[in-house]
Amino acid sequence: MRYVSTRGEDLGSGFQEILLGGLMGDGGLAMPLSYPRLGIADLQAMRGMNYRELAFAVLRLFAVDLPEGELRRLVDKTYTPHVYSNGRVAQQAEDITPLRELEAGVWLQELSNGPTLAFKDMAMQLLGNLFEWALEQNGETLNILGATSGDTGSSAEYAMRGKRGIRVFMLSPHEKMSAFQTAQMFSLLDDNIHNLAVKGVFDDCQDVVKAVSNDLEFKRHYRIGTVNSINWARVVAQVVYYFKGYFAVAKEVGRPVSFSVPSGNFGNICAGHIARMMGLPIQRLILATNENDVLDEFFRTGVYRPRVTAETRQTSSPSMDISKASNFERFVYDLMGCDAGRVKSLWRQLDDQGSFDLRGTPEWERMASYGFVSGVSTHANRLETIRMAWEKYGVMVDPHTADGLKVGVEYREEGVPLVCLETALPVKFAATIQEALGRRPERPAQYEGIEELPKRSVVVNADAEVVKDYIRQHVS
Ligand SMILES: *Cc1c(COP(=O)(O)O)cnc(C)c1O
Repeated sequence: MRYVSTRGEDLGSGFQEILLGGLMGDGGLAMPLSYPRLGIADLQAMRGMNYRELAFAVLRLFAVDLPEGELRRLVDKTYTPHVYSNGRVAQQAEDITPLRELEAGVWLQELSNGPTLAFKDMAMQLLGNLFEWALEQNGETLNILGATSGDTGSSAEYAMRGKRGIRVFMLSPHEKMSAFQTAQMFSLLDDNIHNLAVKGVFDDCQDVVKAVSNDLEFKRHYRIGTVNSINWARVVAQVVYYFKGYFAVAKEVGRPVSFSVPSGNFGNICAGHIARMMGLPIQRLILATNENDVLDEFFRTGVYRPRVTAETRQTSSPSMDISKASNFERFVYDLMGCDAGRVKSLWRQLDDQGSFDLRGTPEWERMASYGFVSGVSTHANRLETIRMAWEKYGVMVDPHTADGLKVGVEYREEGVPLVCLETALPVKFAATIQEALGRRPERPAQYEGIEELPKRSVVVNADAEVVKDYIRQHVS
């Protein structure tokens, strides 16, 4: 399989090479030159596979340069049958992403059974094992530098803790995360995990990461890398659970199934788009946003207008509070018929004018064939949906999952099963659950008293030089 950048650069044929990278040299994102296509017979053969087998079957199509035995070992190590760390007990040991039917034809697919109780673990856990293996192969080390407002940082830390050759330096806004999220991250005492609490807000953290990364000499010398959501391996790992969900609810292979996806950076739903391009019979990809509705605006109107940071609203589904969707360029590349020149000029237009408009173009005419529909969910909708799910189904959903459920049900079609992706557990967002239900969220037994555990973090000024000094001192 050959890889190209969405802006045209030929990236060669190595999954391994792009594994450790984020943005490509020309500012674009890595994409396969073409998608592997699966026919009905292939899908039928996959139908009976457990999660590990399915993950291996899908990843092997994209990671052709990884030795098969190694890939299988890494996948098996990642998706082991277990009693989930959140205390939920699997019906079957093989159920990594169990589905439950909320009402006839509407399903919830559990993606939050990993250590940090959010779907990001599904891919990040694999990434940790892939990174460790790849670095060992080349005798290299990697220092991951990131900024987080909560979910991504903790998911990355739990995936990388104790991994040989990897250190994590994670910046978070000092005293701005929820008590639960802070406890989750700061109670990690592993030598290779460094939590830096930055005096400022999330944007200050991001600015510091950018400033450090722009010092190319420092970046090279200290082997600074990232694990952000544009990482190609993360996207591919997420493709797997669409197959799992499809086989779980489709009465027969070939029948259509729709998926509803709470979206922010467009990483999760991009994986659904890829599954569909590979031939999985997905009818609709239902994109749900919160009040930050950049993506809903695009899918309704053809106008893509990323917001400036100051326009981004703080909402009660905070992991979807984005101003621009970093993976969106991957879909636009496909929509433009893989014409990197067109993508380049659209992004130049974004830089110059702040938006682009596809209305009236031949590409926009083809939009319907990609299956996307979209909708917005507000704070009031969120509360109402959390209440509805609790009263009607006896299920407590987190605010992000509620956004997906709200918009998903609006697009439900007779005879087409609808799978709503669960992106986090309610315990992470206690205040909103309290507001909706007048009670505390269920807390998995393992997380009792997590706030009282010993914690380790250092408080630093929002200053790139201070962070660089810290890294220098801790990388020997
Ligand atoms: C990251 C996240 C999302 C958004 O996913 P994207 O891949 O960025 O679209 C939704 N819900 C939760 C809980 C998240 O952590």
